[in-house]
Amino acid sequence: MAVYLDHAATSPLLPEVLEAMLPYLTTHGGNPSSLHASGRRARQGIDEAREIIAQGIGAQPREIVFTAGGTEADNLAIKGVGWAATSRGRHVITTAVEHKAVLNATAILERSGFEVTVLPVDADGRVDPIDVAAAMTERTTLVSVMAANNEVGTIQPVAAIGEIVRGHGAKFHVDAVQFAAHEAIDVDAWQADLVSLSAHKLGGPQGVGALFVRRGIQMLPQIQGGSQERQRRAGTENVAGIVGFGAAYRRLGSDAGEPDRLRALSGRLLQGLLAFDGVTLTGHPENRLPNNVSVVIDGVEGGDLVAALDLEGIESSTGSACTSGNTEPSHVLLALGIEPHLAHGSLRLTLGPETSEADIDATLAALHTVLPRLRNISGVRPKATVPA
Ligand code: PLP
Repeated sequence: MAVYLDHAATSPLLPEVLEAMLPYLTTHGGNPSSLHASGRRARQGIDEAREIIAQGIGAQPREIVFTAGGTEADNLAIKGVGWAATSRGRHVITTAVEHKAVLNATAILERSGFEVTVLPVDADGRVDPIDVAAAMTERTTLVSVMAANNEVGTIQPVAAIGEIVRGHGAKFHVDAVQFAAHEAIDVDAWQADLVSLSAHKLGGPQGVGALFVRRGIQMLPQIQGGSQERQRRAGTENVAGIVGFGAAYRRLGSDAGEPDRLRALSGRLLQGLLAFDGVTLTGHPENRLPNNVSVVIDGVEGGDLVAALDLEGIESSTGSACTSGNTEPSHVLLALGIEPHLAHGSLRLTLGPETSEADIDATLAALHTVLPRLRNISGVRPKATVPA
């Protein structure tokens, strides 16, 4: 069995989630909009998941809109609220380290005549709330800041930003797709109006997500069709997927010791990595997701390293899965001020519930095999000998 250290890309489906989903893929096959017993059973599955997720983030069930993933939730928040608020202004603020789902959604607004401010981050990937305050104008209608970064794991001061945005009267969107797997969410403490979630980052199925939309927020649906999801997202619901999302969410926080266990394993892995010459941590040293170890390694190409580790049975990532295959260095690492030649050598290792100490040691052993070889191939010699 390979050592899977790519939980930020997808955290594999948990057995209890599959178990919860199976009846909805077999016997409970009705359309939730149908009035008969099969339809009502499917509707009940959705309602239960909606309640679990709403309760998990401190929201009301009617404030949860199910979508086909985090990308759609981000698009719905940004375009839906951006377009609904044009009578008040056309200015949107976001940050340079957002996921492409946010950045490309704001770019589309920009092409339609909106003004978009993309805030910088510091060398650890943190946004300064003072920069948010300074960027707000009377035309600002929406601010979108992620809770935790998918590449470097940096956690943003979301509550402080929420207070500024609320005080100004604009709406606040938080992409919590990565954050939700590891930390509790309270939409009121964040003063958030919109929060994006995705099931497959928490051991749920791929292709299911949700957007929290605070009661009273004006938002234009982005998919036209039937009246599902209180007319905010048309289309027959992914019933089994939504039920799985609920089951995965219910499990969150059930093991109070898990964040500390992940932190200890991440610490061990990072310590081993930093013992190699030319390895630098990326992201904030403390304010980061407990399962995220991301580094840049001088003298290697991230893609080559991921391929070589794969051959050794270690599954990892360079930048985010959504940007790998793309030879451009990650926009996140560049925003942190990392030199492009170093940013090419990025490695992201993200741990999950099954990760053991033996997995960490196997990963470090594989790196001892692979790194010197790759550095020889690329013609870049490590500045000192790699420890045995
Ligand atoms: N936002 C963040 C921060 C992510 O990490 C991801 C996925 O990597 C997404 C949004 C998109 O979510 P999905 O894969 O469910 O479309």
